[in-house]
Amino acid sequence: MQAHSSQSGPKVATIPVIAVLLVSLMVILLPIRAQAAPFLRKGSVGESVVALQKSLATLGYYTASIDGDFGPLTDKAVRAFQSASGLVPDGIVGPLTWGALDRTMEVSRGRTGPLRGRLIVLDAGHGGVEPGAISAWGDKEKNFTLGLALKTRRYLEQMGANVVMTRYGDYSPGSDWGYPVDELLARVSIANSKGADIFVSIHNNAYPKDPGVSGVMGFYRRGSSESYTLASKIAWSVNSSSGLRMIDVQEGPYYVLNRTYMPAALIEVGFMTNRNDVLRLRLESFQDRVAQGIAAGIVDYFGR
Ligand SMILES: [Zn+2]
Repeated sequence: MQAHSSQSGPKVATIPVIAVLLVSLMVILLPIRAQAAPFLRKGSVGESVVALQKSLATLGYYTASIDGDFGPLTDKAVRAFQSASGLVPDGIVGPLTWGALDRTMEVSRGRTGPLRGRLIVLDAGHGGVEPGAISAWGDKEKNFTLGLALKTRRYLEQMGANVVMTRYGDYSPGSDWGYPVDELLARVSIANSKGADIFVSIHNNAYPKDPGVSGVMGFYRRGSSESYTLASKIAWSVNSSSGLRMIDVQEGPYYVLNRTYMPAALIEVGFMTNRNDVLRLRLESFQDRVAQGIAAGIVDYFGR
């Protein structure tokens, strides 16, 4: 605005512009960083180290003070936990170690609310070497499914549920178990071995034949009316919370639906082949509305 009348030329004006861009970028990136489990190692400090020390103390690996300071004793405890969990004992706390900690502790953060006492397994589709569908603009389904699942987990826990995720970061479920295991089998085994009340798998659809197709779909296990009700309630709820068009609810010939023992639903949120769906899926605010919809559908399912 003032740049034209300024004698000092564009260089001076460029610096504030860059500063504003950097600050905007940080504002955009910060919520994402807070969502994902941080990488911690010796020398790290802060709230996430406190959370780590509390978990290790609960599990009996750490008996020193909870001071938020990742020192030699924390390092020793982390390596002991990693060894016991079949992980590489490198002392670096990344997605694999956070995931193992969560599973070991059965993730009991939920306390009160309509979902109190319910154990829900959330399955973020794909991960690691398997990107899922890739949009024409380079977006990977595995990243959208993880973002949606992490946000859904938060809403479910706020309503009292205990939530276990089949993955907590960008890796293949089971790749952290210390021996070779099929990723689909790992997803199902986590749900079955925990005795989950329901299993909910989150994906994004793709229909290359017609990029105009957009919307939400629910899939259920053949012959299971409970699975049908679950898939239907979630899909309709996502439709109303996000504005995504409701397509329909169908039988899904999927391994994760057919091999789990509990009511199971697979939800396809938007299409990776539809430009508008992809643009919306990139937004934290849209992912959040979808997550609220998934959680509300689950509350509805249990509240019948
Ligand atoms: Zn998928």
